[in-house]
Amino acid sequence: IAPVQATTTRSTCPYCGVGCGVLASANGAEVIGDPAHPANFGRLCSKGSALGETLGLGGRLLHPMRRQADGAFARVSWDVALDEAAGGFRRIVDEHGPDAVAVYLSGQLLTEDYYVANKLMKGFIGSANVDTNSRLCMASTVAGHKRAFGADVVPGCYEDLDEADLIVLVGSNAAWCHPILFQRIMRNKEERGAKLVVIDTRRTPTAESADLFLQIAPGADQALFCGLLVNLAKVGAFDADYIRQYTTGFESALTAARNIAPSIEATAMSTQLREVDIAAFFELFARTTRTVTAFSQGVNQSAQGTDKVNAIINCHLATGRVGKPGASPFSLTGQPNAMGGREVGGLANSLAAHMGFEPANIDRVRRFWNAPRMAPREGLKAVQMFDAIARGDIKALWVVGTNPAASLPNANAARDALSKLELFIVSDNVTSNDTINSGAHLLLPAQAWGEKSGAVTNSERRISRQRAFMPAPGEARADWAIFADVARRMGFAGFDYGVAADVFREHAALSAFENDATRAFDIGGLARLSDAEYDALEPTQWPIRDGDGKGRARLFADGAFFSQGGRATFIAPAKPTLATTLTKDFPLRLNTGRIRDQWHTMTRTGASPRLARHLPEPFLEINPSDAADLGVEDGGFARVATPYGSCVLRAVATDRQPAGHVFAPIHWTDETAEDARIGALVAPFVDPFSGQPESKATPAIVTPL
Ligand code: SF4
Repeated sequence: IAPVQATTTRSTCPYCGVGCGVLASANGAEVIGDPAHPANFGRLCSKGSALGETLGLGGRLLHPMRRQADGAFARVSWDVALDEAAGGFRRIVDEHGPDAVAVYLSGQLLTEDYYVANKLMKGFIGSANVDTNSRLCMASTVAGHKRAFGADVVPGCYEDLDEADLIVLVGSNAAWCHPILFQRIMRNKEERGAKLVVIDTRRTPTAESADLFLQIAPGADQALFCGLLVNLAKVGAFDADYIRQYTTGFESALTAARNIAPSIEATAMSTQLREVDIAAFFELFARTTRTVTAFSQGVNQSAQGTDKVNAIINCHLATGRVGKPGASPFSLTGQPNAMGGREVGGLANSLAAHMGFEPANIDRVRRFWNAPRMAPREGLKAVQMFDAIARGDIKALWVVGTNPAASLPNANAARDALSKLELFIVSDNVTSNDTINSGAHLLLPAQAWGEKSGAVTNSERRISRQRAFMPAPGEARADWAIFADVARRMGFAGFDYGVAADVFREHAALSAFENDATRAFDIGGLARLSDAEYDALEPTQWPIRDGDGKGRARLFADGAFFSQGGRATFIAPAKPTLATTLTKDFPLRLNTGRIRDQWHTMTRTGASPRLARHLPEPFLEINPSDAADLGVEDGGFARVATPYGSCVLRAVATDRQPAGHVFAPIHWTDETAEDARIGALVAPFVDPFSGQPESKATPAIVTPL
């Protein structure tokens, strides 16, 4: 174990939902893994190891800026900027009502940032038009968890990946996107002989390590897991006692599964997999009690993502494998604080502390906040929010720490919508990106990683601290403090926070307020932390109820769920289908995703020469047979176009892509070029339960240049 120097600060990596602990030297020149953090025990992947290279001030927004009549930005004081933000929001609310304003947040924000933004919008302005880029990441899992367990709860923990005898990865390139967890899986494989099954449309680096790789057709995941449920019934692998005692809805889910995938032959037809491979997977799942099924964006980013999540959970409920050592469904979140955002109500369809918009919960939160104007209903989810901006229904928008003009589906339409806003505020730490350059009126400089201080929650419900180890440059401020200042200037009481710990204590107290243990999210045990205790908070898994002491690694092993009646619910999924169909003009399927060494739109990772060496430029993977048919040369340039936009990329002919499918990474963007943002190509169709877009199967055409 590396000694912790007096000048070393313990913090958390900001690049993915694994939430690895790091040790940072005073100026950030050295960032290494924290041997004491239970997510990573000292290990870091390439992105985490390069953190020190990404802390420079190049392109940094250092002062509040306001756009002038000539279109250029000019520096203004914080007083002027805050008055303008507060006055603009106030005027538009007074003239058009609370739903004419909106806030769009980020899974990069700290829990405290999310909390104050939500309190301002949902309790004081009176609108739930608060959503986040996490909607594009894991909203289908949230909806699936709520339907199955009665609450948005990940039942298991990372140790389950060490203890499982079978790990099934669905729609997850964990080797690149959750590398430290993938290392844990590989260690289990090597040391304990665990088997790894990978289900994906692409032959990814993760698939290369699988004992069994099922290269499934897009949109067919619930057909495969319905087939699995039917097969479990056929071979008598159900846990009948568990189903009877702890669940409801089993018969209707099994009937639906039999309609979708009545046999291995039918499953093979729907999934385009070989019967022998399907049979091998079903047999392995049936006989392996300690099975973890981990899923990620390949499941979530779908117009049927919620049904896919529930089709997976159904198989775990049917075998009683939920929240037990080495046996659970497990959602791998993409962003470092997607979970923390969910906890405070960062999604437009939740209120606070995982409460929904039921009248009793609205009243409970109103009394806790002493709120003058509670949002009476759910707000608009990300894609709906930008549609409302395009229609002119939303007239003021505050974007915080994210770049929707590049990352939303149909991003050109999102960008064009932004130009219609009467007031468009961006809080960020850069002076230029696609969103800022889409007509932002006011720029507010926010603290970056290494400067800000607060809490994040990782994929296993573990709350860790991000801690500052560098002074904030220029006039950069904490996002929660900016929101609190605007709230005060709008005339609202209840925003007098001095430090991040004040916000965290209030958040923790709200989670326990009138909570009789029927609500899952409860961290009341942290509500009375002193500033020093908050500063020293060790990574801890929720729930942490008052008097509980430590949190809990696993939930539901006792069969007590949070749904009415305390039983888990089997869900009957709909017939599998994609939101779009191929046509003569658009005969290919475009899939999008991450690469190993870049993060989102590369604001930080793009600054690291070491990370740039892995894959230095954007590309389009295409099957060699498609490339030959279309006249596209390996290494040459090609244009990929969809009904929504087009992009010029270097072609990589590879049999990692099945024929008929192409893949492009999401990261690169050039706001000065019309055809350099992959988000502009993605179809905007969303899941009816979660509002998450189908980002992985847009009809496309490729032409050589
Ligand atoms: Fe950071 Fe994720 Fe890599 Fe861990 S696995 S070091 S959290 S990017």
